[in-house]
Amino acid sequence: MCGISAYIGKENNAAEIVFNMLSRLEYRGYDSAGIAYVKEGKQDKIFVVKDKGMVEDVKKQYTPEHSDLCIGHTRWATHGESSKINAHPHLDCKQEIAVVHNGIIENYVSLKEILEEKGHKFISATDSEVLSHLIEEFYNKDDVLNLEEAIRQAIALLRGSYGIAVISSKEEKIVAARLGSPIIIGIGKDEDEYFISSDTNALLPYTNSTIPLNDGEIAILTKNDYKIINKDALPVQKKIEKILHDLQSAEKGEYAHYMLKEIFEQPRVINETMRGRLRLEEGIAKLGGVRMKKEEIRNINRIVFIACGTSLHAGMLGKYLMEEIARIPTEVEYASEFKYKFPVIDKGTLVIAISQSGETADTIASLREAKERGANTLGIVNVVGSTIAREAEKGVYVYAGPEIGVASTKAFTAQITALYLLSMYFGRIRNTISGFALRELVEEFARIPGKVSKILDDADVIKDIADEFYNYGDFLYLGRGYNFPIALEGALKLKEISYIHAEGYPAGEMKHGPIAMIDENFPTMAILVKDNVYNKIMSNVEEIKARHGRFIAIITEGDEEVKKILKGDDKNKVISVPKTHPLFYPFLTVVPLQLFAYFCALKLGRNVDKPRNLAKSVTVE
Ligand code: GLU
Repeated sequence: MCGISAYIGKENNAAEIVFNMLSRLEYRGYDSAGIAYVKEGKQDKIFVVKDKGMVEDVKKQYTPEHSDLCIGHTRWATHGESSKINAHPHLDCKQEIAVVHNGIIENYVSLKEILEEKGHKFISATDSEVLSHLIEEFYNKDDVLNLEEAIRQAIALLRGSYGIAVISSKEEKIVAARLGSPIIIGIGKDEDEYFISSDTNALLPYTNSTIPLNDGEIAILTKNDYKIINKDALPVQKKIEKILHDLQSAEKGEYAHYMLKEIFEQPRVINETMRGRLRLEEGIAKLGGVRMKKEEIRNINRIVFIACGTSLHAGMLGKYLMEEIARIPTEVEYASEFKYKFPVIDKGTLVIAISQSGETADTIASLREAKERGANTLGIVNVVGSTIAREAEKGVYVYAGPEIGVASTKAFTAQITALYLLSMYFGRIRNTISGFALRELVEEFARIPGKVSKILDDADVIKDIADEFYNYGDFLYLGRGYNFPIALEGALKLKEISYIHAEGYPAGEMKHGPIAMIDENFPTMAILVKDNVYNKIMSNVEEIKARHGRFIAIITEGDEEVKKILKGDDKNKVISVPKTHPLFYPFLTVVPLQLFAYFCALKLGRNVDKPRNLAKSVTVE
């Protein structure tokens, strides 16, 4: 989950380049950082600067020196606390080899025992340190210096996942390898410099020509050349891929935080995800990447969504959509559970993996399991060329652009846009929705970006409410039907960035337990828009009121009935959203909840874009 960066080439400030790249990756892990480089003219020694803390703090410990090759890392600790000694890079005993590692070496305990018996001295508590010692074991054998060969032999013994970049003080090269954890090679404009990164964002200021490594491949970069080999040391020919988004789309511009920028980008993102797919004149939705014959779509007898976190909530909404519009029985599974529960799958099962990064380790593992069991698979992914995008048989890209804020916002609305399109597309082919009803949906769907913009224009109202409520320790989020997954998502946003305890519940379930928690210190966020469960939730809100619980209600603008229950009461608040077709309220209810979480976190002085203990794209299982 961490970030890896590396540079080799004509510039003699390799370490600075690597620090810059790391700061663009910091959202992937930020408990410690470090670099290793070889000084110009001092090829026999590796220099390391590393420490606990943010990249910018660690960078302060570095005095600029000439170097033309460097590797770097931002860590999200899995094994061993966040400390200087556990920070990457890790060295071997002779201090000739430096390694940065992303992932988990699952058999590190047994490897460490064997290496210790052979006399290797370990100093950190990480799993990663076995890598430098293991490579050392195979390096310089028979007086032949060949770093890639030593790495090839070492990684054959590993279990788990890794993306690595390695240097030796004895050879002017950087070697990278991957298994289950992304590594992307960046090719300098004149092919006289090369980069490595775990994410294209870090490459953007330098190049948009990339080669993503596949599992099992090893890349060898020198100052003016590169080579890729497979696990049998045979050369692999690979295509150069262009990064599609530009540098600006990955900057936060005038916004105080990436998260705020990304919340405000949502009208555009929804539009972009719909573009060319929502056919207004024809009154239909069409998805090219699905590449399924009509017969195949009609033969789907079950859908299983696999996802984690926010993407899981998108999948939960997808279940309501697929069942109502396309009449396909649908289940939603935590990707981290799916793989290990012997899932029942047949040829009629379509497994849909949802992941912003396309690199979520749990989702990848489950996708592979589903494929092995014979399912049809489809990926709903943001990052073009990512592992899920490549491995799923069919796919729908969501075009949210780079999402840097750790708490996902625009990727969620883009994912649900894709899910609405997909269920409308399936529904039409399966004849489970009339042409008339579909046209009505298509027309209203096209108005959604404008309605989201309207909510964003009134963000200050939500800020004022957050300023009043941010001090509570707990929150209950209630929604029903299509807005139940939104209640879960709203509660997750609040937990993630403000650290306020929040629970999402289907409103009807409240009386079966959670209502016991309600008192004047336990407020409720109720999604109370004008849909088919409006009256039911209204009763739930009355029940809260009767127990002196404070609440904030998200209502449809002009709803006088709710205003009546609030009359003469300024303790409870409402947030109005524009009227829409009942099916589309999730777009309009999730945005106020994102803003509410953002403003609470801001008021509490939290690090909004980099909340504690979290990292973007969870690439370890
Ligand atoms: N497992 C390694 C560690 O704990 C790497 C973690 C990461 O991917 O940042 O140091």
